[in-house]
Amino acid sequence: MDEHDAVERLIEVLVDSSCADMVEMVVHSPSAGRYRADAVDGSVTFERRIQGRGWTYEVSETRGRDPLANQRTDRFIGHDVERSARFPDRAANAYPIAFDSIAQFFDSPEAPDLLVTHTARHFADGYLGQHGSLATVQARAPFLAAGAGIRSLGTLARATRVVNVAPTVAALLGLDPHPGGLGPNGSPDAAALLRRQDGEVEQDILDGTVADHVVVVLLDGCNANLLADVIDSGEAPHMAGLLERGVMFGEGSMASLPTATLANHTTALTGAHPGHSGVLHNAWLDRRNPASEPEEVNLLDLEAMWWASTHVSGEVETLFEALERSRPGSFSSAGFEYCDRGASYSTFALVREGDASALPEEDEVRHIDPEAADNGQYRFISRVDHLSLTDTLDCWRGVHGNDAPALSWCSLALTDTAGHDSGPHGALARAAVRDSDARVGEIMRAVEDAGVLERTAFVVIADHGMEQADPEVDATWDAALERTGVSHRDVGGGLIYLT
Ligand SMILES: [Zn+2]
Repeated sequence: MDEHDAVERLIEVLVDSSCADMVEMVVHSPSAGRYRADAVDGSVTFERRIQGRGWTYEVSETRGRDPLANQRTDRFIGHDVERSARFPDRAANAYPIAFDSIAQFFDSPEAPDLLVTHTARHFADGYLGQHGSLATVQARAPFLAAGAGIRSLGTLARATRVVNVAPTVAALLGLDPHPGGLGPNGSPDAAALLRRQDGEVEQDILDGTVADHVVVVLLDGCNANLLADVIDSGEAPHMAGLLERGVMFGEGSMASLPTATLANHTTALTGAHPGHSGVLHNAWLDRRNPASEPEEVNLLDLEAMWWASTHVSGEVETLFEALERSRPGSFSSAGFEYCDRGASYSTFALVREGDASALPEEDEVRHIDPEAADNGQYRFISRVDHLSLTDTLDCWRGVHGNDAPALSWCSLALTDTAGHDSGPHGALARAAVRDSDARVGEIMRAVEDAGVLERTAFVVIADHGMEQADPEVDATWDAALERTGVSHRDVGGGLIYLT
């Protein structure tokens, strides 16, 4: 069987009605610039062409129902709306900015032969909360900003994208364009603030003045509707205060495919999509060297995780590096952040250098919801977040003999852990937003104590969304793929490589 037939055979079984409750669609790139999405009830083929500094997409063929027909960003807005529409069927779902999100993925030399995306219902790995797929709720992260350089606009009735975070923060800091900057299609772009800039500056939210300091808090996997609801109900007073004087994207911030942690942390920090940044997913098969056996990279493996930023391509620039290029000698901090290349202070760099601080003991951790604390994983990740917080606070207090950080990036993981465990509508997920809000409040106070509150912008984001799965739908497609006899590897729960 040749490669083409092998791919078609795998797609055929994956979109069979027997897998329909777990497979949302299968996407692949049959040839350069050509992409196909297959679902149980139809398929679409689309083509990508260069237009100016970006791309244009055109559908060349559809069969049955076009699985990517709805690419709107405004499905399931609001916590109650999302809860009452749990487990949306593929025909009722939307796939925001799907053409661009799919095409960039296959630009990676490490992209698989096929990518299988899970249905909203699929209880893929025993967690009530799921993400990774293309559809709205899994892609939708929050984006909230306030302070120096940010306009006071309240909630905007539109979406942004995770890939726009880095260019927007770069503009907020008044960074210079990269002298060799490339735009979304890889051609020279004199306006690019980062070396490879797939994203756009969200000019609308900026007032044109420069923020001397930017604090970014990344609430991993925080469902955007949940965050808005917790803010609205008065349970997150610090973020409510930010919204009162700042701006939030009411339709959220759409992650790039795959809507997973390592991929979209790197995208948020580089302005480059996962297919261009060198960090394609949490796990993938490194098959760039045809002379050797492909090797699985798994950045969720704790040992590999500390070294995640060594996979970030030399052809992209992190915000930390862009800051150093534009404002040499300024201080930046990366609290528990995977994509830490170029940061003056980094939790992960200390681990790599064998100089890590120990995790705090449970009784040292401030802000653990008393009911959520019954959950061991909640307690453990609260210790991790406490370390990220105290690392960030130490930098604001100048304990390393440093100036106040120009860029202070603090990643918090509890929202993701709790969201997986209870689902985004569960008690743990809600408690995690409250506990994270208290941490945001501590950082705000530290900025105030440093005397630079008026010159500081605060940006609260996530890397991806979180969707409620259905424990009834817990099968896997492994046996169906085995029966084809096609030799393959499934890495990271859906990246299928022919072997
Ligand atoms: Zn994540």
